[in-house]
Amino acid sequence: MLYPNYQSPWLDDELRILRDAAAKFFAQEFKPLNEKWLAQGKVDREAWNKAGEAGLLCAAIPAEYGGAGGDYRHETVVMEEMHRAGISGFGYQVHSTIVAPYVLHYGTEAQRRAWLPKLATGELVGAIAMTEPNTGSDLQAVRTTALREGNEYVINGAKTYITNGQHADLVIVVAKTDPTKGGKGISLVVVETAGNPGFKRGRNLKKLGMKSADTSELFFEDCRVPAGNVLGGQEGQGFVQLMQQLPSERLNIAQAAVVAMERAIEITLDYVRERKAFGQRVLDFQNTRFKLAECKSQALIARTFVDQCVLWLLDGKLDAATASMAKYWCTDKQCEIIDECLQLHGGAGYMDEYEISRMYADARVQKIYGGTNEIMKELIGRTLG
Ligand SMILES: Cc1cc2nc3c(=O)[nH]c(=O)nc-3n(C[C@H](O)[C@H](O)[C@H](O)COP(=O)(O)OP(=O)(O)OC[C@H]3O[C@@H](n4cnc5c(N)ncnc54)[C@H](O)[C@@H]3O)c2cc1C
Repeated sequence: MLYPNYQSPWLDDELRILRDAAAKFFAQEFKPLNEKWLAQGKVDREAWNKAGEAGLLCAAIPAEYGGAGGDYRHETVVMEEMHRAGISGFGYQVHSTIVAPYVLHYGTEAQRRAWLPKLATGELVGAIAMTEPNTGSDLQAVRTTALREGNEYVINGAKTYITNGQHADLVIVVAKTDPTKGGKGISLVVVETAGNPGFKRGRNLKKLGMKSADTSELFFEDCRVPAGNVLGGQEGQGFVQLMQQLPSERLNIAQAAVVAMERAIEITLDYVRERKAFGQRVLDFQNTRFKLAECKSQALIARTFVDQCVLWLLDGKLDAATASMAKYWCTDKQCEIIDECLQLHGGAGYMDEYEISRMYADARVQKIYGGTNEIMKELIGRTLG
């Protein structure tokens, strides 16, 4: 325990039981396969079904739609244990804390009944396709179109860097249903990929870190979906829907950053207690203790802030600017702390066989996706008057 006297204020006994079950599941079922997944550049498809069978997918979706009937805290607990186990390529957050909540909050009753139970079992893997080769931060500039033709929408466009791209069975596509209307012409259109000839998966992209994540290109070429696949059943709502969900998505990234900070400090403490130089433990150098004292202080400050954000979120009071503060500050600190921890490992820190090396590579993207940290500062800046 990094800070034995601190307990997240939103944690209760039921969540502690879920935490233990999730930790056991990831240790027994996923950890032994992690090296294989890293080598093949994606998790096995069955991993999704296994997580579904264990009741870990869609923890915050009501039981009537096949979920576990919990709330944001339940998702958090599962996500934290996944990261603590060092599993960085399983796109749980996109599937369970982004795609499923979109369907729950904005879907029509028919859409909820059709998709949520299958997302909860892992029969469907979810993805969200916003980013395009020519636009990421500037979402209103997406070029993908979904144009109505009779009882169908015809989607044309290309998406890139899409998490779960190789496995996805259900993709929420950000597209213009009315290209003349800018942001007001954006809709979220759901593509069920199975047997759809207009949907094509591109490359599973090679990247700096998160090497077992299937981050991919997706192509839509006269891809036809039923008119009923516009999320919520009404065109033009997409931009607002995206904006409303962003605070919880960004808090989730901040929370993952805090878990990574804590894990980095723990494994570094293990290392510097064992490693000797100049006849003493590396931990006994004052520099080591000062560096780790700084890291531990910052990690606890981050933890208390994200915990407060969870309380605000549960209370419906987490605004976009505050979530942006959590996302940018925690992910910046994650990268700084992991860098310090890697340094304290010496050469071992640069070797793949040491967890800190992978954590260093995995961390970098946290400052980029979910809205870059520059965009976060833009959003905070707008509240300055
Ligand atoms: C591993 C990984 C997984 C991802 N998963 C997904 C996914 O599942 N779905 C999805 O849709 N996308 C996903 N993305 C894409 C990610 O969300 C985008 O890369 C991100 O939003 C940035 O967009 P961009 O790459 O187009 O960068 P750009 O928007 O081109 O930005 C380039 C630089 O310009 C800066 N910049 C841009 N606008 C401004 C501004 N107004 N003020 C100041 N600076 C600015 C940015 O901060 C950045 O530093 C993923 C990316 C990665 C790397």
